[in-house]
This record gives sequence, structure tokens and C-alpha cells, in this order.
Amino acid sequence: MRKTLIVANWKMHLNAKEASHLVHELSQSIKIYRNLEVVLAPSLMTLQPLSLQIDRRKFRLAAQNAFYVDEGAYTGEVSFAMLRELAHYCIIGHSERRIYFNETLDSVTKKVAAAIRNDIVPIICIGDTKHEREAGETKRVLHDELTTALSDVTSKDIEKVVIAYEPTWAISTFEGEIPKPTEIESTIAYLRSQIADLYGQKAATEVRILYGGSVDEHSIYGYLTIKGCDGALVGHESLSSRKFGELVQAADRAHHEGLKNQDNG
Ligand code: PEP
Repeated sequence: MRKTLIVANWKMHLNAKEASHLVHELSQSIKIYRNLEVVLAPSLMTLQPLSLQIDRRKFRLAAQNAFYVDEGAYTGEVSFAMLRELAHYCIIGHSERRIYFNETLDSVTKKVAAAIRNDIVPIICIGDTKHEREAGETKRVLHDELTTALSDVTSKDIEKVVIAYEPTWAISTFEGEIPKPTEIESTIAYLRSQIADLYGQKAATEVRILYGGSVDEHSIYGYLTIKGCDGALVGHESLSSRKFGELVQAADRAHHEGLKNQDNG
């Protein structure tokens, strides 16, 4: 059974003191959950102090980005190899990196391979722009982004990978449009069918697929009841301890409701 995954993407917010304060507050409201993983993705600078502060039964850490070469003369970069003791996950290919930092399909492929080589679970972000959606190109774009990101991933490693469907038009810092649940459900089903085509049905049922884009403490429940949606990547709302704490509680409720419905049906 796939564990629900809630990832807090703090982006370039919170210095070390502020991040530590938020973790302290979240520790009060977030419990130890057996079937729910809560992952915090702070800035690279605060990963180290937070790795000493967090209760590892409640939280795991993610980096927001890293460079794909393990070591060398690459001024300003931090490698996956350097993060292996600190971060359990790494977000790769976020739309803000693709748009603002010209991250290419090729660099995403290399980063996914570097993450796996260093025992870090990649959270691969893929998504269509508003223009691509309106032009009816969503499936083609997702197919290209998914297949290139996974091109160096073996069938042994595929089950560790997490995919996050993040339409850029739904991210709060871009257009922030709220997609219809049916739209998310069919896109997630499409992504799972692509994994099945590439790696077989077993892999497709193991891989976790998240949704990301303007999720808050009210909408999370609905997203988690969408068939095949295993969690969420949360940006803006993860910066408030109250809102994120409530969001995690709602995710836990959705998980238990889902189990009850399975028992009844
Ligand atoms: C994100 O950028 O990954 C994201 C989901 O942001 P927000 O929740 O603010 O839309």
C-alpha cells in the first residue's frame, strides 16, 4: 500500500532562525503517523541545522535542488553526494527551476540519476503551462517530461521514484488557477499508464504520484480522495504552522476515510 506523502516546499523563504521556529511549532501539531509521511523542503542552507532538530519519527527532509556531478570545480553548486546524509528526498525539475533557471530536460535526467546513485529519492516535478493546456498539448508535454526524466532509471529503481504533477497554471505564484478534480484524476491515471508502459503494471501500482498547485488545508481532503493521488506538494500554505498543521490532519483523515471506503466496498 502506498503511503500518503505531504511535501512542504518552503522555496526561498525562512532563514535558519525562522525555519527552526516553524519546525518547533509544527512539532506541536503534527503527530507520528504510520501511513503518512511529512516531508519538509527548506532552503539548502538550513538543511543541516534542521537535520539535527527534527523528530525523525515525524518528519523527513528534502532538498529543493542539487547538482548532478558528485564533486568538482562547479562554483556555487551543492551535489547530491553532499546531501546524502541530510536529505531523504530531493525535488527535481520544479517549474520555477525550469522557468527561472533554464533547467532543461537533459539536466533533469542527470539529476534524477544522481539522486538515485546517492540514495536520495527524487520527487520529479512535471507539468504543463497554461498555453500548452489550451493548445491541447498536456499529454504530449507530460509524456516528454516523464520519459526523459526516467530515461536512466532502471526497473529496479523505479519504485523509489515519486512523481509530482504540478501544472504551472495552478501554482500560486504563477496563475494559481484551481483545477477540476476530474482533470487531476485523468492526468494521474495517464501518468500511471505511462509508467506501466515503461516498467510494467507492478511498478505503476507502486510509484507514488502527487498533485501540487495551490493546495491548502481545505482542499487537501478532496485531492486525496481522487483515485491514484498519493499526496501533495504544498508551497505557500506550508509556511504557516497553523495551516500546514491542519492540512496534515486533513490528509490523515482522508487516508483513514479511504481505508474505510475500501473495507466497505
Ligand atoms: C509548488 O511550487 O510546488 C507549489 C505547489 O506551490 P503552491 O502550493 O504555492 O501553489
